[in-house]
Amino acid sequence: MKILCSNPLADYLPYSTEILTAITDVLASGSYILGNEVLSFEAEFKKYLGSQYAIGVANGTDALQLALRCCELQPSDEVITVAHTASATVTAIIQAGGTPVFVDINPQTYTMDPDLLERALTPRTKAIIPVHIYGHPADMPSIMAFAQDHDLTVIEDCAQAHGACIAAKSVGTFGDFSCFSFYPTKNLATLGDGGLVVTKTEEHDAHIRALREYGWRNKFNSEEAGINSRLDELHAAILRVRLKHLDSQNSKRREIASLYQDGLSNSELTLPFADSLAYHVYHLFAVQTIKRDGLVQFLNDRGIFPGVHYPVPAHQQPAFAKYSPAARLPVTEELSKRIMSLPMYPTLGHNEVEIIISSIKEWFNAHS
Ligand SMILES: *Cc1c(COP(=O)(O)O)cnc(C)c1O
Repeated sequence: MKILCSNPLADYLPYSTEILTAITDVLASGSYILGNEVLSFEAEFKKYLGSQYAIGVANGTDALQLALRCCELQPSDEVITVAHTASATVTAIIQAGGTPVFVDINPQTYTMDPDLLERALTPRTKAIIPVHIYGHPADMPSIMAFAQDHDLTVIEDCAQAHGACIAAKSVGTFGDFSCFSFYPTKNLATLGDGGLVVTKTEEHDAHIRALREYGWRNKFNSEEAGINSRLDELHAAILRVRLKHLDSQNSKRREIASLYQDGLSNSELTLPFADSLAYHVYHLFAVQTIKRDGLVQFLNDRGIFPGVHYPVPAHQQPAFAKYSPAARLPVTEELSKRIMSLPMYPTLGHNEVEIIISSIKEWFNAHS
């Protein structure tokens, strides 16, 4: 027996026939780059979210980078984000020529604490990137209000939150830009790399479309130095199949989450919190314990492989530390020592969830 933290193969198999048909159709079409599949996926995804414009790109990091390039950052311009995130969020800021500034997170939701934005603000602040970490929405109403007061661009990092909502409004529809990744383990995933930017104006839509293809507004004539970051037809075709199943897959994640919540409510673990207005889509089921290393070792010996997202906060990683030598992020720093991700993917069996719960209880009984 081997239970992984996420399992892209198991999640692919129920849809393999549909996906193979979609792939075969693309192969037979003769159109492999920026054709009908990408256009259709962009249209279907923006309709799903309830947003105006959607542009497919090569991956989630590029989505963030290209959204930031629309802000035309000067080298000392600052972008406020969190350190409790994937390295991708921060590397995108640096690729776009900005300086990351980190704020701490809410200890319950693990997302950006809006009350700390005022203190992080400087005359060089240009943008804010909240991250909907683990599938729980950041406090967008407060962040948007702050950004409006200070004339800042908001870019939502939605890489872990396809389908998450605040009071029935999808994440990805609050900010000026929103960025998605379709990496194989994400809630909406292709079988390779993929990403997408959502915007609210025709001007931004046209700008991102140009930036993703060498800066072309018209073919063979770069108006600025864009990059090559196109979503492939093959990935778009796979994503069109999977988008139809996103809501049911998110429901399965939420069922698994409630099994964990019930089974572990009396354990020593700190379990995920969901705000009353939030529709949490459980990209990960992140729990806290100060006894993490012992528990992980025990579970590994049983063939259960939890993840740790993330062991080193961004402001302490070698590439990023120089941007914020004085950063004090006590909630983030403490969390990085205690956080771990229990197995969570739509095809995870309920019997497997029971095995994980009983193994955790057994270990705590022997170690409390
Ligand atoms: C996965 C992820 C990204 C980036 O995605 P890639 O497609 O791997 O470039 C960005 N932000 C967060 C929070 C992520 O989890």
